[in-house]
Amino acid sequence: MDGNLSARLPDGSILCTKAGCHKGFLTDDDLVVIDMQGRKLRGSGNPTSEMAMHLACYEERPDCQAVIHAHPPISIAFTIANVSMARCVLPEVVLTLGTVPTVPYATTGTRKLADDLRPFVREHDAVLMDTHGAVCLGSSVLEAFCRLETVEHTALITKTARDLGGAKELDPAEAVRLRSMGLKRYGGPPAAVARADAPGADLPKACIGCSGCANPHPQGIAPASNLRMARVVSQPMAPSPLVEAAIADAVLRSLAR
Ligand SMILES: [Zn+2]
Repeated sequence: MDGNLSARLPDGSILCTKAGCHKGFLTDDDLVVIDMQGRKLRGSGNPTSEMAMHLACYEERPDCQAVIHAHPPISIAFTIANVSMARCVLPEVVLTLGTVPTVPYATTGTRKLADDLRPFVREHDAVLMDTHGAVCLGSSVLEAFCRLETVEHTALITKTARDLGGAKELDPAEAVRLRSMGLKRYGGPPAAVARADAPGADLPKACIGCSGCANPHPQGIAPASNLRMARVVSQPMAPSPLVEAAIADAVLRSLAR
C-alpha cells in the first residue's frame, strides 16, 4: 500500500495514484488527475498527501515526466543507521545514476519535506529521505522505476559488503571520470549535465569528513547526514537488533521473489 506514482500528462496536469491503493493491483479507478497546485481535476478518491513531493519534482525539473516514491527497505535502513548512500561504490551506478543523497528528516506529507527535496532533485534523479523512503525521477514511469530498483540493489550490495568487513569506495579520480562520462553518455539532471566537463561533474566538493570520494549535495545545503558520513566504510557500526531484523527480513523477502 506504500508509496505513490505519478506521470506528467501532455496538457501539464499530473496523473497519480490515489491515497490508499495497492500498487500491485492498480486499475484505472486507482488513478486521479491533479493540477500543479494539487487540486483534483478528474477521478474518484483523493491524491495522497505525499503528492506535494511529486509536484516539487515536476516544478524543479521540467525534463521530469514521471516520479515514483517508495519505501525500499534496505535503503531506508541505511538512513536509519546513518550510513550515507551518497558514495561512489559501484562503477555502473556512478556512471548511470551518480550518487544518492539523503534529505534530512521532515514529517511525511508536509510542505516542508517537499520544499527540502527541491535542491536535491535539481541535481539528482534518485534521492533518499531520512527514515522514510526514496524519490526517483525519470523521463517515463519505467525509467523512474528502474532507478528505484538501482538504488535498492546498490543498498543490498553495499550492505552485504559491509557485512563482509567493509565497503571500499572507488578511487576519487576514477569516480569523477566515470560520472563525467556517464552524464555525457546517458544524460541526467540538466544542472548536472551542464557541468559534466567540470572537475567532478555533479560529484561534489562539499563532503565534510568524507573518506575520499566526492559526495554530492546541493550548494548551500549541509544535510546532517553528510556530517555523519565519516563513520562509513571499514568501520562497521553495530545496528540495533530492530534494524538488523528489518534488514534480514527485507533480504529474505527479496530472495524469495
Ligand atoms: Zn512515503
